Amino acid sequence: MSMKILVLPGDGIGPEIMAEAVKVLELANDKFDLGAELSYDDLGGAAYDRYGSPLADETLERARQADAILLGAVGGPKWDAIDPALRPERGLLKIRSQLELFGNLRPAILYPQLAEASTLKPEVVSGLDILIVRELTGGIYFGQPRERKVLESGERFAFDTLPYSESEVRRIAKVGFDSARVRGKKLCSVDKANVLASSQLWREVVEEVGKDYPDVELSHMYVDNAAMQLVRAPKQFDVVVTDNLFGDILSDQASMLTGSIGMLPSASLDANNKGMYEPCHGSAPDIAGKGIANPLATILSVSMMLRYSFNQVEAADAIEQAVSLVLDQKLRTGDIMSEGCQLVGTAQMGDAVAAAL
Ligand code: ATP
Ligand code: MG
Repeated sequence: MSMKILVLPGDGIGPEIMAEAVKVLELANDKFDLGAELSYDDLGGAAYDRYGSPLADETLERARQADAILLGAVGGPKWDAIDPALRPERGLLKIRSQLELFGNLRPAILYPQLAEASTLKPEVVSGLDILIVRELTGGIYFGQPRERKVLESGERFAFDTLPYSESEVRRIAKVGFDSARVRGKKLCSVDKANVLASSQLWREVVEEVGKDYPDVELSHMYVDNAAMQLVRAPKQFDVVVTDNLFGDILSDQASMLTGSIGMLPSASLDANNKGMYEPCHGSAPDIAGKGIANPLATILSVSMMLRYSFNQVEAADAIEQAVSLVLDQKLRTGDIMSEGCQLVGTAQMGDAVAAAL
């Protein structure tokens, strides 16, 4: 099996955390004889600086040719003042939509060693293992028309559009059901069907798809209630499937249940499980260049890549076990630090995971 991996370190802490993830990936490559071939390019602000565009055509072509993409994070204050159409985040949205990476998987798993780092009581979060499946290439982030203008009255005015087609809902619903089938067999679809037409279609289509999954228990929840339930009793959830906007918000919220956003990986998949893998967090400009960022979300993204795109279960498991071992050794970056543990930097954390592997 070909394993061509395009590495896009990106901006801010991106290059720092990616160096550690690549360290672990190259070690796994040797140890498990994966045959991975890595190549490198830029995305986001780094690409704007080099190519004058946050996603150059040649980079997009390389991404198309690759079997999987590993991404750090994009964006930062350095590019705040540039043409909005060339902002780093535009490059990220474009690569997701051009590659049709519509299925975004965001697991929120609490490592028992980090129970104290969670903002919730231990009994509420211990053993937490939920998967948020977010639709990534449709909805309000892409909907047209969108506009900002000044009305004749002189008042400023703006609007966005939240469109979903039946086929877009159907394909993400399938990802949700397929995921639930190999996990706890429970799927909760989150929408706002009491108010939004797009949500009414969403609910209808999810119901229809559910007929093919009699072994999965389907429930529906309004997003406001889901936000509340997620902090009240998060363990009631197994897999949550939801749209682009709601999924963005709920997955950031879920991340804090696990202690730190610095722990959470993600996968963005197309219909053939070709994917782009990245940490859930952003480029953290406030700590960039200091060597203190937590690289575990990116290292765990490597594990997701090996599992989902290449079916290398053994190597994927080994990386996750190495992360767990390092947490057992009480090594912590600042974001997950607690009493009695040893504070380490980004590179030390990466070295420790490599040593454990
Ligand atoms: P984006 O819009 O790209 O999602 P964001 O505005 O949500 O970005 P992040 O870059 O994710 O922001 O940073 C949010 C906070 O979390 C910052 O204080 C940042 O320092 C912290 N943070 C993010 N990632 C890490 C990490 N890997 N290790 C430690 N702290 C992190
Ligand atoms: Mg964010």
